[in-house]
Amino acid sequence: MNNDRRPETIAAADGIGQDVAFGALAPPLYLTSSYRFTGFENPGPYDYSRSCNPTRDQLARTLAKLEHGAGAIVVSSGMAAIDLVLSLLEPGDRVVAPHDCYGGTFRLLKLRAEKRQFEVTFVDQGNEAALDSALAQRPKLLLIETPSNPLMRVVDISILAAKAKAVGTKVAADNTFLSPALQQPILLGADFVIHSTTKYLNGHSDVIGGAVVAADEADAAALLKWAGITGVTGSPFDAYQTLRGLRSLFPRIERQQRSAGLIASFLEAHPCIEAVHYPGLASHPGRAIAVKQQRGFGAMLSFEIAGGRDGVKHFAESVRIFTLAESLGGVESLVAHPATMTHADMGSDARRAAGIQDNLLRLSIGLESEQDLIEDLTQALDRASFS
Ligand SMILES: *Cc1c(COP(=O)(O)O)cnc(C)c1O
Repeated sequence: MNNDRRPETIAAADGIGQDVAFGALAPPLYLTSSYRFTGFENPGPYDYSRSCNPTRDQLARTLAKLEHGAGAIVVSSGMAAIDLVLSLLEPGDRVVAPHDCYGGTFRLLKLRAEKRQFEVTFVDQGNEAALDSALAQRPKLLLIETPSNPLMRVVDISILAAKAKAVGTKVAADNTFLSPALQQPILLGADFVIHSTTKYLNGHSDVIGGAVVAADEADAAALLKWAGITGVTGSPFDAYQTLRGLRSLFPRIERQQRSAGLIASFLEAHPCIEAVHYPGLASHPGRAIAVKQQRGFGAMLSFEIAGGRDGVKHFAESVRIFTLAESLGGVESLVAHPATMTHADMGSDARRAAGIQDNLLRLSIGLESEQDLIEDLTQALDRASFS
């Protein structure tokens, strides 16, 4: 593992200029299903792209280095990455997940548990007593998501990982919201890191993809083998695009989080806003943990707007630079309404239990001028409050 290089260097230049055939600077895109055997009973290093492909493998190597893992498996979506980790569970095994996790994760866990593929316990991981009693059931897997989507709650990965280890539970951390540029869960004790590469890693809103990074080499090999068996591996073209996007991860997210901090402060001072959830604000309950385990506060935030559903509707229909859309982590700023979009399938009871209110809006801050973004929010809030 070439971890003597600093992470910015790995993101920008890992795999550059290593093409054996022509010395291509950019790692080539290998669009092929199969590879010629060098002789009878004698395959070359590659045989079939469902299980291995040089372009996908390059992205996997780069991601493993950035997350300090022993290996990575590049798959077709973030959900496929979570499902790949869940393939470690057998009937009767238990997974403990945050009660306010990403809506798609919640839905997948609930539906697989209903099929009796494993048991699931949803818990408020910030509540120590609730977490301890869930871990007392000796689950096979603890799934962590910090900061959480959409409420930006922060939990202490190293404390949770130590508690899980003590009862023989493996730990998987969904690091989608921060990317390895801002948080490296394996260094804090996680066994697996999960990514929706759709978000910050690709960063240009033109790929759906995912990855699992494993701390342990045997775990990485086992998951890679299973991904090849089920065919959940990502396409070579998507891997090429994602590696291209990843080159600028650090400058993108650093600029985006600077704007997010300014926007969070602006919103907190605005009379039409009832609450702002951003770990960088002094008012945020998870700020101290974020300072300890993150390299920055990230570029995602959420807020509760005055005027209930009507306030939400008028705001969402008034923004001009922000686009009303799902997803996050791209170069363009987005606004989403979790209750009717990302977290609609969760159901209103589970949303209420998780604290996701109907007047909550989530922002993904892009690379536009922060003045333009603040002016856009100002005019949209003016319209929302006069309705
Ligand atoms: C988007 C997202 C996922 C799912 O990823 P897809 O690429 O959309 O399948 C999982 N976890 C988090 C935190 C996400 O934001």
